[in-house]
Amino acid sequence: MDYSLLAKKYNTPLYVYDFDYIQAQYNKIKKEFQARKSLVCYALKANSNLSLLKFMAELGAGFDCVSIGEVKRALLAGAKNYKIIYSGVGKSDEEIKEALNLDILMINLESDEEMKRVENIAKELGKKARISIRVNPNVDPKTHPYISTGLSKNKFGVSLNKARLMYLYAHKSEFLEPVGVHFHIGSQLTDLTPVIEAARIVSELLRELRALDIDIKFFDIGGGVGIKYENEEEPDLYSYAQGILAALGGQDATIVCEPGRFLVGNAGVFLTKVLYEKINDTKDGSHKRFVIVDGAMNDLIRPSLYEAFHEIKALKDGQKELCDVVGPICESGDFLGKDISLPKLENGDILVVKSAGAYGFSMSSNYNSRNRAAEVALQNGTDRLIRKRESFDDLIKNEKEFI
Ligand SMILES: *Cc1c(COP(=O)(O)O)cnc(C)c1O
Repeated sequence: MDYSLLAKKYNTPLYVYDFDYIQAQYNKIKKEFQARKSLVCYALKANSNLSLLKFMAELGAGFDCVSIGEVKRALLAGAKNYKIIYSGVGKSDEEIKEALNLDILMINLESDEEMKRVENIAKELGKKARISIRVNPNVDPKTHPYISTGLSKNKFGVSLNKARLMYLYAHKSEFLEPVGVHFHIGSQLTDLTPVIEAARIVSELLRELRALDIDIKFFDIGGGVGIKYENEEEPDLYSYAQGILAALGGQDATIVCEPGRFLVGNAGVFLTKVLYEKINDTKDGSHKRFVIVDGAMNDLIRPSLYEAFHEIKALKDGQKELCDVVGPICESGDFLGKDISLPKLENGDILVVKSAGAYGFSMSSNYNSRNRAAEVALQNGTDRLIRKRESFDDLIKNEKEFI
C-alpha cells in the first residue's frame, strides 16, 4: 500500500487498518480450536472502531466487552447478543441492569460483592443472570506490570477458594445461572506457558464444579496472545491450543478466547508527518537529534505509558542516524520512539509507525486540545474512511453552551 498517497488523501495523523490481515488472524486462531466448539470473542478495547467491529461480527466473532459502552458499540455494529461477554472489576448498577436487559451471553464476575449486586438487580428485573466467574490463578505471566493481571496482587478476579464458594452460592440462587469459568492473566504474552498453567488450575475447578452438578458450559481462557513489535518470538498458536486442550483433559466445554492485540495489532499502522528536525547541543559537546512530528502521545500513548517499542520507518532512503521521534505535546514523555535510526528528514515527509492497530486509537485522547486522528480501512486493495478526523467543534461541543 502506498502510504504517502493515503497520507495525502486523508491527511495526518492517520490510522490505517488492513482488514484482510485481521481476517487472516481470526482464521488462524479459529483453526487451532477447530476440533472443539469454540467462540472467539474479540476484546474490543484493543480497537473499537465501529466498521472494524462490523467486519469482525461478519466473520462470526463474538465480543469481550469491559464497559456497557463497549457492549452497545458491539451491538450497534451487528454483534449477536448471545456472543457478547461483559467483564471488568467495576460494573455500575446501571451497567449491570442494561447488560441484563440486553440479554448478553454472560457477565464475568470479579468479586463476591459484585455477584450480590448482579443477583439483586436480576431479581428486580425478574431475570436469571447468566454468569461466569473470573478466577485469578496467581500465575506470573511475565509481561509488563501494567498489563499483568493474573497475580493475587492485581485487582482482577477472585482466588480459587473464593470462586468455589461463589459458584456454590450462584448455583443455589434463583436469579443466577453459572454458565462459564474465566481467567485472563495478562497481555502481550509471547510465552504462553503461563496461560496453559492457568488453564490447568482452572480446569480442575471446572471438574469439581461439574461433580457438584454445576453445569459450566464455557471455558474462557481470556486473551493476551502477544505479537511481534520488535524482535519478540511470535507465540506458537498450535502448542497454545494443544496445551489448552490437554489442560481440559477431555472435559467437554466450549472454549472461549478473547484475543485483542493478536487480531488487530499488526493490522494497523499510524502515519504521521514530519514537521521539523531539531538538533540540541548537549553539555558534553555532542548533539541530540529530534524529529518532531504531527502525531503525539494523545494519538498513540503506548511508548509513553509502557515504554513500548514501535518500529518507525521513513518512506525515503538516505544515510541513517539515531534520533528521538517526538510529538508537539508539552510533556517530555511525549515520544513515539527513542533512538530510532532514520534518514535526514524534512517538513512533509511521512513516517510509518508500525504495529499500531491495537491500543492505539482506542487509548487516544484530546489532551492539549488536539483533535483525534482519522481512521482508514484497507480491504481487497481499496481504502475507505471509517472515522472522520475530529474538528474543533467536536472538541468543544459539550462545553460551549455553558460559557
Ligand atoms: C484486555 C483484555 C483482553 C484482551 O487482551 P489482549 O492482550 O489484547 O489479547 C481479553 N480479556 C480481558 C478480560 C481483557 O481485559
